[in-house]
Parts: sequence; C-alpha cells; structure tokens
Amino acid sequence: MSNASYKIAVLTGDGIAPEVMAEARKVLDIIEKKFDTTFNYDEQLVGGAAIDATGQALPAETLAACEKADAILFGSVGGPKWESLPPAEQPERAALLPLRKHFGLFANLRPSICFPSLTQASPVKEDRIEGGFDVLCVRELTGGLYFGEPKEIRTEDGEQVAIDTMVYKASEIERIARIAFKAAQGRDGRLTSIDKANVLQNGVLWRQVVEQVAKDFPDVKLDHLYVDNAAMQLVARPKTFDVVLAENLFGDILSDEMAMITGSLGMLSSASLGESKGDGLYFGMFEPSGGTAPDIAGQGIANPVAQILSVAMMLRFSFGMNEAADAIDAAVKATIDAGYRTGDIYSGDEGTQKVGTVEMGDAICSQLS
Ligand code: NAD
Repeated sequence: MSNASYKIAVLTGDGIAPEVMAEARKVLDIIEKKFDTTFNYDEQLVGGAAIDATGQALPAETLAACEKADAILFGSVGGPKWESLPPAEQPERAALLPLRKHFGLFANLRPSICFPSLTQASPVKEDRIEGGFDVLCVRELTGGLYFGEPKEIRTEDGEQVAIDTMVYKASEIERIARIAFKAAQGRDGRLTSIDKANVLQNGVLWRQVVEQVAKDFPDVKLDHLYVDNAAMQLVARPKTFDVVLAENLFGDILSDEMAMITGSLGMLSSASLGESKGDGLYFGMFEPSGGTAPDIAGQGIANPVAQILSVAMMLRFSFGMNEAADAIDAAVKATIDAGYRTGDIYSGDEGTQKVGTVEMGDAICSQLS
C-alpha cells in the first residue's frame, strides 16, 4: 500500500482518443482504491481539438500543465480535418514532436505482444507465431534524421533539393542502449541492435557504442542486424526476438511493422521516457501506439486496450507501481482469454463475443476488481 499521490497531465486528443481515454480513467479509478493512491488529473487540450479551440496544437497552458505533472497520459492526435494545414502546423508534428523535444523524451518503448489466443488476427502464418510472441522495441526518439540540421528544401541549379541530416552523438547512442540493455535484463536477456553499418557512418558509430555498453551488461546476449535484414527477420521469426534496439527512423518503421504483425494496433501501448530521475523512475509520456482511427471514431467500437496498457506502463515507469501495472496487464490478458473482442480483433471464433469500447473497458475493470 502506497498512500502516494501523483499528478497526471491528461492530454486526450482526437478521433477515438476521448472514447478510449474514458476507459483508461475507469481503470485508474480502480487502481486508486485498490492501491491506496491518489491521482490528481490536469486535463488539457492537445492536437486537433487544441487547434480548433486555440489555434495551436500544443497551447502554452498544456505545456505548463505537463511541466507540473509526474507523467503525461496522452491520447492520439490528428485526423482528416487538420490534414490540409501546413505540415509544420499539423497536430502530430506540432504537438508530439515538440513535447518529445521539450521533455527530452529520448527513449520510446513499444511492447509488441501477440496474445496466444489472438494469433489468428496476425497476418503472419500461425505456425510461425504459435503461442504468441512478446517483443519490446526500443527506439531512439530525439536524434537522427528527424531532428538533424540542416533540414530544408532549397533550390540548387534551378531545381529543388531536399536535405535531411542524420546525426548522432555517441552519448545519445549510449543512453538509449543502456535503457535497452536494462530492459533486456528484466526480460529474456537478449538484445538485437539494428543499424546500417555497411552503408552509414551513423551505423558504424552506433555499433561501436552498443558493443561498448554491452561490456556493462554481461548477462545480456547481444547480436546485430542490418535494418533491411531485420525487417525480414522480424516478420519471418518474431518469436525468436526479445528486445530490439534501433535509432529513430529505423525504430519508427520497425516498431510499426511489429505492431502490424500482432494483429491490432488497438492492443499496443507505448512509453516515451526521458532521463531517469535517479531512482529508477522516469518522467514520461504514455500513449497508444496507434493513431486516432478516424474510420471508426465516434462509433463506440474502438479497442481501449492500448490506452489501458499505456496506463500500466505509466504506473510502472513513472510511479514505480509495478504491482498495479502487473494487475492491469493480467486483467487485460484475462479479459482476452475470457473471449471479449472488439471489432479489430474479432474473428468469430467459438467462445468469443464482439463487444464495444465501454463493454471491453468494463470487462477489464471487473477482472481488475
Ligand atoms: P491509425 O492507427 O489511426 O489507424 C490505422 C488502422 O488501425 C485503422 O483501420 C484503425 O481503425 C485501426 N485502429 C487503430 N487504433 C485502433 C483501436 N484502438 N481500436 C480499433 N482499431 C484501431 O492510423 P492512420 O489511419 O494512419 O492515422 C489516423 C490519424 O491518426 C492521422 O491523422 C495520423 O496523423 C494520426 N496518428 C496519430 C498518432 C499519435 O498521435 N501518436 C500516431 C499515428 C497516427
């Protein structure tokens, strides 16, 4: 029993985000009672909803609330309504990237879990994923091509030229590698580092630094894959991977690939962490891996599991409430095992029933209590 109190900045977002966030809040209400904890919520606008209300995707008030919080619980942002805005003003780019940069959220952890009872939802042949799989993708989030300068489109010799710059400091590689090695220690003790050392100088340095960090983690078995090979191997034999470490661009693509082969984006959560506060806990932003699913928004059929599992990650990484996080993970698994399925994971199997967002949330809450 903790008697602790935490301040959570709740940035709900667009599309299905309000629907799935409501279910995540129900889960938090139960955790509060069960684990004698107080959560103080500061709800703020973000993304398209914030653009409509204030003209900005990340209003100053929202940022100020995040600064005062112990963690940020984030819903997804964006949708067709804002796609015609100039790229720099669009919800994802104008809210997510500045938040990551402002809080130095350099580590993105995305568990790709395919539950044994959901293997039929995966596009990968069942014999390759029998019994499910559980791969943790660790992606560097604040360096590389997405942030390197110069970054521009300019005119040279009468034609347009686009320039993006890939740049990594050894210290940036080292800090993300340490998080990945630590994560591997708490799991199956295996780490696959991804690079393109055969072509990119960034890859050469990446591999050198990861090898160096590995000396501090002799209990973790390290191997390396070139990114093009990794893209194939992850689909061909996902069960054989434990933790996968990649720089920003490669991690973006590979973690989406891994999300896809689990069968549903609606099941996957994500944590973006900054430097450790020294006590093994991190300030972080916790959100679903998927987007705002405009195709199903407002219909009450979105899968709330990703948002609920993002709550579990917040409890684990920012508040050190491992027992509560385990309880949520177990409640989700029990709900799936009991046959509850939202549309995205429903395939009509015997013993399963199709439910909506609220019923799925209620089923998880009743398992939890
Ligand atoms: P998406 O993840 O929103 O949707 C892809 C597919 O997955 C859709 O068929 C959708 O219905 C389904 N899906 C996703 N989450 C689901 C859930 N919880 N339950 C059931 N089905 C779910 O990706 P997209 O269509 O490429 O993007 C839609 C919008 O979301 C865009 O505006 C994009 O910019 C934004 N987006 C935001 C974030 C973020 O805020 N972190 C991430 C990705 C995309």
